[in-house]
Amino acid sequence: MHTTPETQVTTKAAVSSDAQRLLRSVEAVHGSTGFHWVGNGFHVSTYFPSAKLPAERVSPFVLMDYGPPTDFAPLAKGKRGVGWHPHRGFETVTLAWEGSVAHRDNAGHAGTIGPGDVQWMTAAGGIFHEEFHAESFTRDGGRMHMMQLWVNLPRKDKMQKPGYQPITAADIPSVALGQAGKGGHVRVIAGDFGGVRGPAHTFTPITMLDASLKPNERLSVALPSSYNAIAVVAKGRVHAGSISAGAGELVLFANDGAGLELVADEDAHVILLAGEPLGEPIVQYGPFVMNSMQEIQQAMNDVHRGKLGPIPQD
Ligand code: MN
Repeated sequence: MHTTPETQVTTKAAVSSDAQRLLRSVEAVHGSTGFHWVGNGFHVSTYFPSAKLPAERVSPFVLMDYGPPTDFAPLAKGKRGVGWHPHRGFETVTLAWEGSVAHRDNAGHAGTIGPGDVQWMTAAGGIFHEEFHAESFTRDGGRMHMMQLWVNLPRKDKMQKPGYQPITAADIPSVALGQAGKGGHVRVIAGDFGGVRGPAHTFTPITMLDASLKPNERLSVALPSSYNAIAVVAKGRVHAGSISAGAGELVLFANDGAGLELVADEDAHVILLAGEPLGEPIVQYGPFVMNSMQEIQQAMNDVHRGKLGPIPQD
């Protein structure tokens, strides 16, 4: 990389005099925008899309609904969740920490995720699906703690065949932190951390980490500076440099360093979302995420003409 001794000396001097330059600074801390129900099953706060958090700063992610721990009473009859609805142009990624979520789509995929599992559903060219609490969870009641992300697809993959990755907790490698591994752990869902690679297949480069940190433990993640990077604090309190964030807050990192670092002030649970921005126009309308209004219109026409396939009747 460096062809002359002079260049090497200059680089070393710059690094040693300002090591902080290697770390990303915090661009902003965002709070919840308020809560709403998705169907009658998911009590969530939409952190983005939001007027305060521009789409290009969170790309390739387009939406994040976070549902903090919510208690549900036993329900003897009926379902909780959201019935058949279409999607096109992106992926829905559902993470469950407590509770149990069942998915079924008209491309033939079905699955139930429980604590620690992730469901990575690729709508791409189009599907109908339903998302409910698992039947046994509905009957027994209990605590639900979940997140749903919408991960955008690049233009060239938006009309691909739908797909489905059931990623169980057992599939997700865990990296222990701290002395004798007592500082917590990082579950690697996508991308690389600590020399292990997460199981999720992604269309564009994405790093998704689910970290549990003991007090004073440090989460250090090397990422290309081009990646957008967000840390969602689900529990506890952390700081990045002089900026502090607590449960229910989201830290948006600036794209100004080769890595990022968070330090836990107490027992903390943090979800790190990072990825290469797509750099393509984003038009989101309801359940569709495309590149132009014309493609949104096409999606609506295709739904009305039954081109996303029949909805199972039962
Ligand atoms: Mn959906």
